[in-house]
Amino acid sequence: MKAFSKDQGPWTPADLASLLFPQRCPFCNGALPLRPRLRAPLPAAEEEDVWIHPRCSPAGALLREPLCLRCGGPLGDAGGAFCPNCREKAFHFQQNRGLWQYREPIRSAITRFKYHGRQQYALPFARAWWLAHHAFVEELRPQLLIPVPIHRSRLRTRGYNQAALLAYELEKLSGIPAREDVVVRTKHTGAQKDLGPAERMNNMENAFRIRHFPEGISRVLIVDDIYTTGSTLESISRLLSEAGIPEIYAATLCVAGGETD
Ligand SMILES: [Zn+2]
Ligand SMILES: [Zn+2]
Repeated sequence: MKAFSKDQGPWTPADLASLLFPQRCPFCNGALPLRPRLRAPLPAAEEEDVWIHPRCSPAGALLREPLCLRCGGPLGDAGGAFCPNCREKAFHFQQNRGLWQYREPIRSAITRFKYHGRQQYALPFARAWWLAHHAFVEELRPQLLIPVPIHRSRLRTRGYNQAALLAYELEKLSGIPAREDVVVRTKHTGAQKDLGPAERMNNMENAFRIRHFPEGISRVLIVDDIYTTGSTLESISRLLSEAGIPEIYAATLCVAGGETD
């Protein structure tokens, strides 16, 4: 098997664990033959077959040109650079890059990923996104990956933040550090009295605040699973923009194109 060939270094506990708990295909949840011991992406033609059953590959759901230069969703018959939804609004981020339309089988796979404990899907998902967009990222050279945060009460019940899992997988692939402590999600109410005017405005207008501002950073890539209306991304982007980060891009697995979740 190609995946277990030369130059991969010594076996690690994670490699051995993968024999007992195999990597699963995110689209059928069936076990893949063996978890490949890979530290870097394979050539494009081989990559997806390793992480997603060839028969399960949702090629028909891939977002294809022409795409909106803002949200990364289908442009449809609209023409121009932006879809109708993005034409009407002002955004503080430059561009989102998605991979799939938000429909079956991706919708069910993302539900398992987010709500049913399938954290391991972060790996095939991130690799699929990276395969499609690594040239874009390598040219853009963002300095930081920022996952969209979930509130700590949700983190307690769910146990993980799926956007952070994606960001850490992208960190491994890109070498760009992922940081969860830059933006945090706050409650809509409460704690207002302790905030300064700027923070209060942020807290009122959206559900996020900056916890640790990354000094010396001018270009970031926000990571999330789904782009729906763009309001989450815009809330975070506005915060970062007002804090002095001029270039804000985003990476999402899906662009919902007006659907809600
Ligand atoms: Zn499958
Ligand atoms: Zn758009």
